[in-house]
Amino acid sequence: MSSPEVVIGVDIGGTNLRTGVVDRTGNLSQFAITSSRKKLAGSKSAGRLVEYIGDYIAQAGVSPRAIAIGFPSTVDNTRRVVLSTSNIPGFNGMPFADLFEEALGIPTFLNRDTNMLLLHDIRSAGLEDKKVIVGCYPGTGFGSGLWIGGRLHVGKTGCEGELGHIPVKGSERVCGCGNVGCVEAIASGKYLEYLLAEHFPGTPIGEAFTRHADTEVLRDFIDNLSLPIASAINILDPDAVIVGGGVTAMPGFPRDYLVERVRARARKPEPEASLNLVFAEPRQENGVIGAGIYGFSRLEASA
Ligand SMILES: [Zn+2]
Repeated sequence: MSSPEVVIGVDIGGTNLRTGVVDRTGNLSQFAITSSRKKLAGSKSAGRLVEYIGDYIAQAGVSPRAIAIGFPSTVDNTRRVVLSTSNIPGFNGMPFADLFEEALGIPTFLNRDTNMLLLHDIRSAGLEDKKVIVGCYPGTGFGSGLWIGGRLHVGKTGCEGELGHIPVKGSERVCGCGNVGCVEAIASGKYLEYLLAEHFPGTPIGEAFTRHADTEVLRDFIDNLSLPIASAINILDPDAVIVGGGVTAMPGFPRDYLVERVRARARKPEPEASLNLVFAEPRQENGVIGAGIYGFSRLEASA
């Protein structure tokens, strides 16, 4: 009996490096999680990633059809080169698909981590037959992804769907991208940390909403989160909006109030009246499973 076709899914975050074996139906096995800081710190981080995945495949004892990797980065429009990564030194401009294919002889596909999450969430919500879907993932920053025409949207340079960098007037905060006034600078976990230090010193980040959700400071923060979400809704009139990310998964996060603010800012009567906003259930494995789904879709596209 031949072994089932599998893809190695990899999800690289600023904190964790997650890897797994994913089959065509999205089933995950041999899930592994390690510290990306430890594995990828210092110089030669790209080479060490290749080595880690090579060792993982050898230990897993599988012959994968492909490797698919989600990076916390912008990725070029061919999805073969990582363009810029703020969290991990040594990744900028790295042709990872070439590096992996030369070292391991396995077809390798790259994408942004949030696009992998979006693929996972689209499948788990049963939305794969829909044409237009927006994924919003407020975590450390404000991650996002666009599904247009029944597939992940790719722009001219590959840097599409950057909802976190929608400019807002009145904010003088400098964004990680270098611009002033990006919405991400006031709609992200990083800004939430700043708000806690400023207004509620001593509150651990995990208790932000259980303790202070009803204060004006945090209600205003939730309103900030609604800005990029409602902007995307008004531009795209999507079949569905998927909202996930670490911030929305925090205990006591006021989902109802976020929906209320999104609806307040969406155009009336449509697309507001028909808005389908779905909250994703964030799990450690989602990005790896999404990468597996992406790997199979790329294999099919090139077949
Ligand atoms: Zn920005």
